[in-house]
Amino acid sequence: ATPTSIMVGTGRAAELGVLFRRGDALQALQGVDVVAFDKTGTLTQGRPELTDLHLAPGADRAEVLAAVAALETRSEHPVAQAILSAARAEGAAPAEVTEFEPHPGFGVSGSVRGRRVLVGAARLMAREGIDPGALAARADDLAVRGRTPIFAALDGRIVAVLAVADPIKPEAAQAIAALHRLGLRAAMVTGDTWGTARAVAAQVGIDDVVAEVLPDGKVAALDDLRRGGRRVAFVGDGINDAPALAAADVGIAIGTGTDVAVEAADVVLMSGDLRGAVAAFDMSGRTLRNIR
Ligand code: ADP
Ligand code: MG
Repeated sequence: ATPTSIMVGTGRAAELGVLFRRGDALQALQGVDVVAFDKTGTLTQGRPELTDLHLAPGADRAEVLAAVAALETRSEHPVAQAILSAARAEGAAPAEVTEFEPHPGFGVSGSVRGRRVLVGAARLMAREGIDPGALAARADDLAVRGRTPIFAALDGRIVAVLAVADPIKPEAAQAIAALHRLGLRAAMVTGDTWGTARAVAAQVGIDDVVAEVLPDGKVAALDDLRRGGRRVAFVGDGINDAPALAAADVGIAIGTGTDVAVEAADVVLMSGDLRGAVAAFDMSGRTLRNIR
């Protein structure tokens, strides 16, 4: 952003660090019907922690953790960070990785000590033809509680389901309630599992959920929300969603996210506080009433 492209809001918007990067953003906000949120890093803090590890019968915890952690040393996904710090805390020694392949929106795979290792969402296991067996029900239980289940397979057999939990931002429910009072609908667009997405949505008051969206599917998800001529603002942190920020009627970036998010957005919430989005809508309403 060039300094001249940024206008700092007044009052509550300025207090919360809301930047309007485009002069017509105030006007555009007035036409919005639906505010769609990315989940990870936007509604949640984006710092997941490992909460669970359930082994399949016969699997060895240290062996599973060493293989999984080895693969995750190569990944930049927040899930990888969560698994790695838990493995370190348990003293697991990550083994050497001889092959590595990221599968965006699915997980990771590779070769560790000559064994084929897969770590990721249920859809990664389904794609590889690996049956999660009894651990599928475990995964559903974890998702209902808002945790993200991650399966691990060794040589084509499920050995564990792990879960990570990403704390919901404390102001999220309050911000969404305030958007409702302004007459707006709230939606969520996420790559996470349906069960997890629904649980988080219920906790914060989201009306419409679109889950299991692949990284390149977020723009299409916005098009679905636009049906019937509705106009959509998208709030995201730029991880996997910069194209959606650019494609939305109004793109609202979490300023604590990526630089590419800020570049793609019309409005930036510098502190990441979701009440900033409410303040932006408030300010837009007041400004346009004064002009009229
Ligand atoms: P999101 O960040 O919204 O969850 P992604 O598209 O980045 O969406 O990932 C979708 C899912 O793929 C994740 O929820 C996770 O289950 C799985 N996944 C992605 N990367 C990894 C990884 N490095 N390790 C394990 N699972 C992963
Ligand atoms: Mg995100």
